[in-house]
Amino acid sequence: MSLKEYRAKRSFDRTPEPEGESIHYHPGCLFVIQKHAARRLHYDFRLEIGGVLKSWAVPKGPSLDPSEKRLAVLVEDHPVEYGSFEGTIPHDEYGGGIVMLWDRGEWLSEGNPQEGYERGRLTFALYGAKLRGGWTLLRMVGKAGAGDKNWLLIKRSDHEARSHQEFDILAAMPLSVKTGRSLEQIAGEKDNSS
Ligand code: MN
Repeated sequence: MSLKEYRAKRSFDRTPEPEGESIHYHPGCLFVIQKHAARRLHYDFRLEIGGVLKSWAVPKGPSLDPSEKRLAVLVEDHPVEYGSFEGTIPHDEYGGGIVMLWDRGEWLSEGNPQEGYERGRLTFALYGAKLRGGWTLLRMVGKAGAGDKNWLLIKRSDHEARSHQEFDILAAMPLSVKTGRSLEQIAGEKDNSS
């Protein structure tokens, strides 16, 4: 489903705000998660802020469990167009490995997203095919040597939260949101789709 189709669908089957909250969101920004089988498997979490995809590599991937705080390491900005990429990157290039478009949709920032990014605290709602509801990205402080690259990705407690024991979304929904392919299928096919 394209983002345009997704938006059209969402307009009549989704409520735009978490229950019980009245928040002014900044609408219409893309979010993408790319499952990336590089040297080590990780999930690249990307939020469109200021015309680029701000990007975090999440080694363990996102969790719907608010008690699971997932390390998210800030990496290079990516162009918005990269957010539709799925395919194979040659091993001698940056990001070499297999890239799957694991989830995609809109994110709505609570407050100004650029300010939230700069002060190290982003609070937002996701409207993806897999991830929904309220989330927080929080920059860690006081870690010697880690600079300001280490953030935590945390699900907020709401009607979209699930306990990790009850439901592991990474295991339950492992395939591409764009093509339904597995990493193995993407790796085995030459017609990279972007
Ligand atoms: Mn990556």
